[in-house]
Formats: sequence, C-alpha cells, structure tokens
Amino acid sequence: MILRFLPGTSEELVLEVKTRLESGGLAIVRSPESERPILAVIGKIPSALRQELERHPAIEERIPARGEQLLVQRNFRSSPSIVALGRRGEVHVGGPAVVVIAGPCSVEGRDAVLEIAQHVRRAGAHILRGGAFKPRTSPYAFQGLGVEGLRQLKDAGEAVGLPVVSEIMDASDLNAFRDCGIDCLQIGARNMQNFTLLKSVARSGVPVLLKRGLAATVDEWLGAAEYLAAGGAEVILCERGIRTFEKATRNTLDLTVLPLMREWTHLPILVDPAHAAGIARIIPPLSRASIAAGADGVAVEVHLRPSEALSDGPQALLPGELVQLVADARVMAAATGRRLHADPNESCPR
Ligand code: PEP
Ligand code: MN
Repeated sequence: MILRFLPGTSEELVLEVKTRLESGGLAIVRSPESERPILAVIGKIPSALRQELERHPAIEERIPARGEQLLVQRNFRSSPSIVALGRRGEVHVGGPAVVVIAGPCSVEGRDAVLEIAQHVRRAGAHILRGGAFKPRTSPYAFQGLGVEGLRQLKDAGEAVGLPVVSEIMDASDLNAFRDCGIDCLQIGARNMQNFTLLKSVARSGVPVLLKRGLAATVDEWLGAAEYLAAGGAEVILCERGIRTFEKATRNTLDLTVLPLMREWTHLPILVDPAHAAGIARIIPPLSRASIAAGADGVAVEVHLRPSEALSDGPQALLPGELVQLVADARVMAAATGRRLHADPNESCPR
C-alpha cells in the first residue's frame, strides 16, 4: 500500500507512522519526494493496523499496490521521475524534454565507435549507445569486444561529451562497467526477467535502462522494474517491440503501452523502434509516432556502412538519416507541448 500524507505533514508524524508499521513487521520505503511525504508499505498490513491508517488524520490517500508494484507506481511520486545521466547529470531522461539515444549496435573498434560518436554528437543526439557484450541468437555470431569495447565506448563518449549506455548480461561484469564509467546499464530484452542480474545491477548505484522482454506483458515488465527500484536503482523503461504473429517486421512496436504507462508508473519511458522494426527505412516514421504517443525519447542504431555492420546492419541508420531523425524529434516534441533536450555540451563546449 502507498500512503500519501497531506502536504506539510510534520516529520515527527511521518516517523511515528513509519515506526508503528515497522514494529508491526512491515518494511517501509520513503519516496524521494519533496512535495509531500509518501511511504510505500511492503507486506500484508494486519486489519487492526489498517484501520488505524484509515483513521489517521495526516494520511490523505491510501493506494493499494498494482499487482506487486509499489515503488514504480505513479502514485509513489507527485510528478514523473527524471533520471539524470552524465558526469554533471546534464542529460535528463523524463521530464519536459525529449532525448535521442544513438550509436552502433555493437562497438566494433576504437576508430569506428569514435567516428560514429562524432556523427551522433553532430546530429544533436544526447546519449551514445554501443554494445560490448552482445546477446546473439547464434553462438557463432560476433559476441562483442567485451571490456575492451566498454573502454572504447566510454572514451568515444568522453571525446564528444556524451554519456554512454551499454548492455550488461552478467553480474560478474559489473565492476568492469563501473570501472569504465558506463553511465547507464542496459538490461536487454532477453534478460528482462533475469532476476539475479536485476538484483545485482540494482545494487550498483548506476541508473538502468530496462528493455521490455520479447514477450513480456506490461505487468511483467513493471515487475522487473520493481525489482530494480526495490534494490535502489533509478530506472528508465524502453519499449522495443514484442513478439506477435506478424512476420513483416522483426517485432511489433507496441505504442499502445505509452499512454497507459503514463497512468501506471512515474518512470521515464523510451522507445527503440530499431529493434522493433528491424528495417532502417521505417524507423523515422516510427520514431515520430513514438514521440507523438508520449515517449520521453527514442533509441536508434547508426552505422557508416550498414551492410558491413557486425550486428543489426539492416536496422542501422546512416549519419545523415540520424540528422533528419533528430530534426523530426524536435518538431514532434514541440507538437506535443514538449521540447527537444538541450545539447549536453552547450554549457561546456568541445
Ligand atoms: C540492443 O540494444 O542492441 C539489443 C540487443 O536490444 P534488445 O535487448 O532490445 O534486443
Ligand atoms: Mn542491436
């Protein structure tokens, strides 16, 4: 249950309720909320205690968990949450501005990732992506450059002044991700319900980009996000297409979840139309549609020679196509009462 106190409730009163519940064997998590005190009560509240809460004059609302979701629930915050990335927290995912994440599917080498990073920066995107540990369907396909790939990605990000995001598949690599300064840990679709990985990643203190599972329902997805939030992580959701009967595209982009997610969770939500479509030429309209439907941003893949890419070439945009996509994102953001995120280098030009 979520307890929303009246704005201005004294700390003493909040603490009194918290202590009372804890002595009843319940775990309490306080929302990092400033407008009013909000507590999440984890566990089944005995009826006598429940009645006390119902009568309590300082508690304005008592909201039951949505399934098992508490900390990710919309009501756990007064306004949607914002995840700040980058050394100075200069890139805000969520909130009024729309972001673009772009970069290669896989980091393919130092020069290659740097060259793409320069294009990503010039196009006006805000976060650089690149996989170093790749979840490939075939064991014979390129598996990624591993820790060396993380270093190359981070160096490219530093060179152009953009925070970086990369997929982690195994908790034993966490120290390497931290040592390399990866700004955001991506949990890929195939690992969305790898609960051991989620728990370890949550404890790392690094923000997490949680992709939707290949065939995950919204509740399963939010359940995975709850694991991360329960471990203390800041979470960004990312819709990337789901399995359906349709074979015309790699997956089916489920934009219907966007307005619903706004009601159910305070977490920022991005859309990755690249892994949904699998076809580069249809990514621009899907990106525009994503922003129109309320996405906090889009994540796309870029390559200089898509036909030579070591993974996901058919869905890679050329640098010039990325420039157009960012321009479109600016127009779509404005059309929906938002704006494109400022250039992260604006206050610190390179
Ligand atoms: C990726 O981002 O490169 C990736 C493998 O994505 P997903 O987990 O959504 O398939
Ligand atoms: Mn990819």
